[in-house]
Amino acid sequence: MTSRAAKPLAAAAIAQLEADGVATLIGTVVNSAGLTNAKTVPLRRMGAFADPGLGASPVFHVFAIDQTGIVFGDAIGVVGDQRIRIDLGALRILGDGLCWAPGAFFNQDGSPDPYCSRGTLSRVSDRITEAGIETVVGHEMEFVLVGPDGSELPSHLWAQYGLAGVLEFEGFVRDVTNAATNSGITIEQFHPEYGRNQFEISLSPQPPVAAADALVLTRIIIGRVARKYGLRVSLSPVPFAGSVGSGSHQHFSMKRSDVPLFSGGAGAAGMTAEGESAIAGLLAGLPEAQGILCGSVLSGLRMQPGHWSGAHVCWGTENREAAVRYLIGGPSNPQGANVEVKIIDPSANPYLATAAMLGLALDGIERKLTAPPEITVDPDSLTDAERDKAGIRLLARDQVEAIDMLDQSALLRGILGDEPVDAVVAVRRYEQQNYGDLKPEELAEKFRLAWSV
Ligand code: GLU
Ligand code: MG
Repeated sequence: MTSRAAKPLAAAAIAQLEADGVATLIGTVVNSAGLTNAKTVPLRRMGAFADPGLGASPVFHVFAIDQTGIVFGDAIGVVGDQRIRIDLGALRILGDGLCWAPGAFFNQDGSPDPYCSRGTLSRVSDRITEAGIETVVGHEMEFVLVGPDGSELPSHLWAQYGLAGVLEFEGFVRDVTNAATNSGITIEQFHPEYGRNQFEISLSPQPPVAAADALVLTRIIIGRVARKYGLRVSLSPVPFAGSVGSGSHQHFSMKRSDVPLFSGGAGAAGMTAEGESAIAGLLAGLPEAQGILCGSVLSGLRMQPGHWSGAHVCWGTENREAAVRYLIGGPSNPQGANVEVKIIDPSANPYLATAAMLGLALDGIERKLTAPPEITVDPDSLTDAERDKAGIRLLARDQVEAIDMLDQSALLRGILGDEPVDAVVAVRRYEQQNYGDLKPEELAEKFRLAWSV
């Protein structure tokens, strides 16, 4: 967008927003450690925030999860300045005089910054479109309500998926639902989860960048409503050690010339050959992508069999212990058949996670890979020999191993570019080096609110 075109558009939009009572605009970006950073402007500065953007140091990309750490490297240091530009087309009203828009990083000459996660997802998304494929992504978000200092809330009435969870927090549930509607977010469902004081919200499928934006916006909404009730939202993958983890699963479906790839075909589970190849690509690249999808110092605690987090690299129809769950279409599933990547957790940068997931699927399609047979049982119930025969491997629980695999992955570097991979490797290694020796309880406590907004 040129400055000349941006100005009249912004003026009209500002007048409308003022009429809606908006005074302040919040722009956000998400960094390689999964942290959400923000800048705000008075509404009259909205046009400038869109173009040329607001200045920000390149170190934004490498802020660490411990509130102070900056992981300097050869490429990112104290020198340099970038621009965060908000996307006015994605602006949403939050209420109480606030509005929000997602931002992306640009260099001072106006070129896209290769470290930018939203820019990276846009590029992967464009590649998919150029390949003649249309794709939509649906996010699930699990989170745990805690006290303002991260303390555990009482849960005497809590039951797995229990009604008491809704009634104990009915104001929170109602206000989140209303705020989401008012901000243009479509919640598909919102329910108590398995863990104590854990909830899940599923968002409706949208094109990849819009879907990740909606996830960020929903995090802002639940964070704001929780505060009104004296609560906070933990977006840690393991809010309490030894308890259930929180996932941030992503679903996607694909179509070519309006024909779905995951149904109506002659392949396994009714998939087309390309649908199977997409799954094959995902499975082939998942161990190398683990550092992007669930790479934080806490993530390994969740990545174990029996946790429905998909620790086994395999696929299966409605199999919740498979890293890749295939969901059947038909009359009970108006969204149509789709694929869910279960290993993604909320410590991941959602833009990069989607970019990795879709990039692997496209890679499978382009290389015409063949999917292994589906696994129809809990993979943990098989013997080692049976798993070996079926080619099922367990994802690393050791994060050092997962990050090393990412660092060495030509595949992921090809999909995302070197810069985002280097930044993720840097912040995750920092976590390992500084906190890798903590006991699970200490780790969970220390970082319970690290990703909260
Ligand atoms: N909480 C589980 C996880 O960590 C997921 C449970 C589910 O399948 O909804 O991913
Ligand atoms: Mg769930």
